[in-house]
Amino acid sequence: MSAQFHIVVVEDEPVSRMTLAGYLAKAGYRVTEAGDGDALRAAMAAGAVDLVLLDINLPGDDGLSLLREIRRQSEVGVIMVTGVSDEVDRIVALEMGADDYVTKPFNTRELLARARNLIRRTEAARAVRADDPVKRFAGWELDLPRRRLTSPAGHEVRLTRGEFELLAALVSNPGRVLTRDNLLDHVSHRDWAPNDRSVDVLIGRVRRKIEQDPKLPRLIVTVHGIGYVFAGGG
Ligand code: CA
Repeated sequence: MSAQFHIVVVEDEPVSRMTLAGYLAKAGYRVTEAGDGDALRAAMAAGAVDLVLLDINLPGDDGLSLLREIRRQSEVGVIMVTGVSDEVDRIVALEMGADDYVTKPFNTRELLARARNLIRRTEAARAVRADDPVKRFAGWELDLPRRRLTSPAGHEVRLTRGEFELLAALVSNPGRVLTRDNLLDHVSHRDWAPNDRSVDVLIGRVRRKIEQDPKLPRLIVTVHGIGYVFAGGG
């Protein structure tokens, strides 16, 4: 089962990195080795990452800066790999959103148990968020079962059925590009003639209701030639 989970090992010392990566791969994980911050960024940009083992002592971008950077964009599980003398940094790392830490020299069985537990916890949290019928973004709340949109100031904003269905499809797929066809699939066709243009019109109407500046949309972003992506999640 664990073969589907992807762990990035960030460590500048090649022997430690390869040993750790080999051990995790043997336990069934997909492992990417990263010797520095750039390699970590490349790994995270390339696809889904379930866990990052982050060495706190790295040349260049150190572990704490990288942790801060990760937390700005992701809730991926992070275990800091620290030295005995890193007690203060260890506490700082936990305050900055690291989920756990191990201290070198660590027991590999213990590390594996911690990694497995953390992946299980983050997976469970992700499933709960995906199931939550109330979607929250930039202070807004979209209550899917009640079909109700509430502004950051707490006012209910009325949506037509088509507007609601379109917004619901977008906020339920944050970060995923939806084509006009994808979006049409989510909007009931009863009271309007569906075509590519009508999606754009509907997007324009929703933007005027939820965007601070509908001319410079930040929540529903146009992907030219493809469709739209909802960027307000997380
Ligand atoms: Ca190191």
